[in-house]
Amino acid sequence: MTKELTKHQSKYDETCFELPPEGLTEEQRKSCLEVFKNYINVQKDNCLGYQVNQKMDYKGDIEHFLDCHLNNVGDPFVNGNYTLSSKRMEKAVLNYYAKLWSAKVPHDPQDMESFWGYVLSMGSTEGNFYGLWNARDYLAGRKLVADELQKKLRLTNYLHPKHIEDKPHAYTPVAFFSQDTHYSIIKAMRVLSISTFSEIGQAVYPGQNPLDPDGNWLKNKEVPSVEGNAGPGSIDVDKLATLVEFFAEKNYPIIICCNYGSTFKGAYDDVEGIQNKLMPIFERYGLVNRDVHYNDVDEDGNEIAKVDTRNGYWIHVDGALGASYMPFVEMAYKQKLIAQKGPNFDFRLPIVNSIVMSGHKWPGSPCPCGVFMTKVKYQLFPPADPEYTASPDSTFAGSRNGFTPIIMWSYLAKHCYELQVQRVLYCEDVSRYAEDQLNTLQYCHPETQLFVERTPLALTVRFRMPIKPIVEKYSLSCESLKVNGQVRHYAHIYIMPSTQKETIDQLVEELKEKGAFKGDDI
Ligand SMILES: *Cc1c(COP(=O)(O)O)cnc(C)c1O
Repeated sequence: MTKELTKHQSKYDETCFELPPEGLTEEQRKSCLEVFKNYINVQKDNCLGYQVNQKMDYKGDIEHFLDCHLNNVGDPFVNGNYTLSSKRMEKAVLNYYAKLWSAKVPHDPQDMESFWGYVLSMGSTEGNFYGLWNARDYLAGRKLVADELQKKLRLTNYLHPKHIEDKPHAYTPVAFFSQDTHYSIIKAMRVLSISTFSEIGQAVYPGQNPLDPDGNWLKNKEVPSVEGNAGPGSIDVDKLATLVEFFAEKNYPIIICCNYGSTFKGAYDDVEGIQNKLMPIFERYGLVNRDVHYNDVDEDGNEIAKVDTRNGYWIHVDGALGASYMPFVEMAYKQKLIAQKGPNFDFRLPIVNSIVMSGHKWPGSPCPCGVFMTKVKYQLFPPADPEYTASPDSTFAGSRNGFTPIIMWSYLAKHCYELQVQRVLYCEDVSRYAEDQLNTLQYCHPETQLFVERTPLALTVRFRMPIKPIVEKYSLSCESLKVNGQVRHYAHIYIMPSTQKETIDQLVEELKEKGAFKGDDI
């Protein structure tokens, strides 16, 4: 196994892809591309470690557009001066997901309850950034698109709300997310200077963590998941509520990032459970429809006091994988084709403010993409008004990928609900199969605990990390988790529509070999 793998890898490693000033000859270029193609083909067939669907068939639909520069710069719902865009397809994709997630359609800038969103140029990372930026500015009382519509009420150009003497923290958002959260959320907090509960706790309320016997904020900087690292990976809603109440009582507005399909364990946070538990807390501490006070000026320059009403919480659902997949599990469940469904997470829950998903995960795409969605009433006011493009700068990037909306559109056009339900059933079936097969391995390694685990409804199975050549061959993703005081090195496989049972069989065969796992110690 290792020998054959080394040969394949070394051909790729030894090929010179360097670009000299004179460029490459056609022959050299073609030979490089051939090596690269062979390398990718093999890696693609063996790829088990990441939640990216490799089953795709876009060539026919997209080929023509590879030699055009399509750019969806600006708001998807406003055509700008750059007309080589795929905004019509983008709007169709957004409508599709708005319906799938029970948001109010169609988008109408005058209808506060209707949805707004855009197709991301990056994946969910961008959506998480955008959602948290939106959350921060909403909670800090900054201007929204909705406020612009209130211009008629002469609420003009405020940027910051008035400081409230007896509520000094009223516009300082504090963020909560579980220990199973994707690193993009932590990065977004850093870039956006949003403080987490443990940072504010440590700085302002040292020794008062209500979850810790010593009040320590630094032992758990994230909200614990159910049973910690030993558990399924979903957030501990009771512990979340205890922490949220501590800050809500002190008038801090609350940001919560829920995982819907956590990256490593594939766990689903109980968003509805969070709503049930937290709404009474938000109500108790005046975070529902709270008044935001501004000083404005009238036409003669006299200061006048204005009041705006906003919630003091923002619930963002990071549904990178789950948001595009779980709706079809629910359909399968309703048709009695599957025994359980995931927790509700979408706009049926009034508590939800924003949702993101990655287009290259469940649907499958040759390059990263995804969807961000919120409601018109929560929409950020664009920081600039670029006359240059004639479309509001309401998205994260300037130039936006005009290519990926065609890919997503093509996927959705070709995969009806029923087909996606079939895919869900296939993945569920193969996941169970993989779990069973990996469990049988334990007999081959009696001295080594293999920790084979699968969170309910997850498309991933985790187990003890094998040796490096196997990790590389199958592109396995690895993570070390401290369980009961001991560090365990895990790997996981993801079962996507492109995953073949044969590949799992092949992996299991290789894992049976003596020496497949380093050190038969534990
Ligand atoms: C993959 C993933 C992300 C990041 O998405 P990208 O599309 O890679 O940017 C964020 N959150 C979760 C839970 C993920 O699994």
